[in-house]
Amino acid sequence: SVTENMKEGLVLLSSAGAVLSINKSAAEIFQCRAETVCGNHYIALNRSIEVHEAAEAALQGRHCDVRFELNGRCYQLFATPITEERGADGRAQVAGAAVLVQDITEKASAEQMRREFTANVSHELKTPLTSISGYAEIMKNGIAKQEDIPRFAGHIYTESARLISLVDDIIQLSRLDEHDQKMPREEVDLLALSREAADRLRERAEKRGIRMTVSGDPAAVYGVRTLLEEMVYNLCENAVKYNAEHGLVTVRVKKEAAHITLTVADTGIGIPPEHQARIFERFYRVDKSHSKETGGTGLGLSIVKNAAQYHNARISLESRPGEGSKFIVVFDC
Ligand code: ADP
Repeated sequence: SVTENMKEGLVLLSSAGAVLSINKSAAEIFQCRAETVCGNHYIALNRSIEVHEAAEAALQGRHCDVRFELNGRCYQLFATPITEERGADGRAQVAGAAVLVQDITEKASAEQMRREFTANVSHELKTPLTSISGYAEIMKNGIAKQEDIPRFAGHIYTESARLISLVDDIIQLSRLDEHDQKMPREEVDLLALSREAADRLRERAEKRGIRMTVSGDPAAVYGVRTLLEEMVYNLCENAVKYNAEHGLVTVRVKKEAAHITLTVADTGIGIPPEHQARIFERFYRVDKSHSKETGGTGLGLSIVKNAAQYHNARISLESRPGEGSKFIVVFDC
């Protein structure tokens, strides 16, 4: 019962490498039937070189663990020799091997994400820093003409502002990654938050003739105010940034019996279908130069997604290139 109910796959091998027993999870992982493989050589389970090497090592008395991929999932396999004492000399003999297989797909992809994130962060931080250091060096060496100095200082100022907003976003994301359940929760009205976000963005929007409207019902979500604020603001900011001249941003809050829906729609450049699934990834931008021109960090939507997940809200997107985008966040209440 114990081995049959284990989440991990367990296979016991004889000293000759024959399968003596295989539990339900292992049969599922290797997609075989216990009755057919029992008694056969373990090679019938899986032909990958990693599995073969680990099993052989264990049958020769050495512990071995490897990773392997099968049917799009990632597994960690631990092969351990089973020894028994034999003969007058008391030397241990290998009687067989126990093979334990664990599904580590989620762990492996989280590790991969962390590696990519670190590489991306370093790259994103280095670009503005290199430019700051370049301008500062020219000024320090006295090469810069007096009349160019305000312009160079302006570049240094803009690039350092970029660095600050990048670091702020990274801090916010790592707080969300830690699933900091200690963040204080309160009743937060999404309609009021939307109005505040629109007010903060209005001047920027009007410069490009973009009109912003906020409508709907007052709707309180029990959540973390700063995260919800950031979520609404990022969505509205994108709706302005990626809008066309004289475009429209429409924010709606709808309260129903079981749900509260926040919709942020724009009449902007839209998002091509092949990019739609990826724009919530960290540092993913459809058009890198356009995002940077508008002061984007490529982290806004990943903060939105994490903040939505933090509140058990679902986020979806409808968008057509050249027509506009609509982001829909649905909270349970
Ligand atoms: P950024 O800081 O680059 O705006 P985000 O994470 O907020 O980063 O968004 C990721 C990418 O998704 C953007 O670079 C842009 O290409 C695309 N995007 C986000 N919102 C919109 C929108 N409302 N309309 C068109 N494209 C958008």
